Amino acid sequence: MSKLIIVPTPIGNLDDLTLRAIEVLKHADVILAEDTRTSSVLLHHFGIEKKMFSHHAFNEHHTMPKIIEMLLSGVNMALISDAGTPGISDPGFLLIRECIKNNIDVECLPGPSAFLPALVVSGLPSDRFCFEGFLPVKKGRQTALKKLTVEDRTMIFYESPHRLLKSLHDFQLHFGTERKVSVSRELTKKFEETIRGTLTEVIQHFEKHSPKGEFVIVVSGLS
Ligand code: SAM
Repeated sequence: MSKLIIVPTPIGNLDDLTLRAIEVLKHADVILAEDTRTSSVLLHHFGIEKKMFSHHAFNEHHTMPKIIEMLLSGVNMALISDAGTPGISDPGFLLIRECIKNNIDVECLPGPSAFLPALVVSGLPSDRFCFEGFLPVKKGRQTALKKLTVEDRTMIFYESPHRLLKSLHDFQLHFGTERKVSVSRELTKKFEETIRGTLTEVIQHFEKHSPKGEFVIVVSGLS
């Protein structure tokens, strides 16, 4: 029986690739990668020479039948994305759902993802939380924000540096100026930092220090 194994990869620090992940990548027949050029740097670093197939948001519908056919014929596959856990704001969900439909075994190794360390270091309640990923940029954005005004769990968002302030301002508008927030950037990397405070305070910080790098925003729920 072949298997699809989901393999989380580092979100910055290459030492975060687990020993099991290295073993799985070494032994898979094929590695499905979001960007084969990005992943070849990682694989090369660990001395893994393996055939890679590209599987990304723009070709996943097209490549799916072939991948399912290969899995059904006994080819073992590992799925990786550019960083973190596939399926978390990255391709993976559609393929996993299709494998389950076809009775193909799916396994996910535990490993890096940006939202969990950001939640834990935020100091905001981590017993109940919701992951919102990237907010819609235009259509559906206001509806999503409106729904979240009554959310009482800690909320986690991914954001790009050039939209960080726009999102923080939108949160201020919908959740109020005094709502607690924690913004983590460049997790596991050289310039990792976390800025905590009220939305007003954190906005002031990023108005003085222009946002650079990758960001996770963690917002306190309605209390
Ligand atoms: N699959 C990934 C995961 O498991 O976290 C997420 C991929 S998503 C395309 C990329 C977003 O994740 C970035 O825009 C940022 O919001 C967040 N992210 C990824 N790496 C990060 C890091 N080192 N520090 C902070 N945020 C990060």
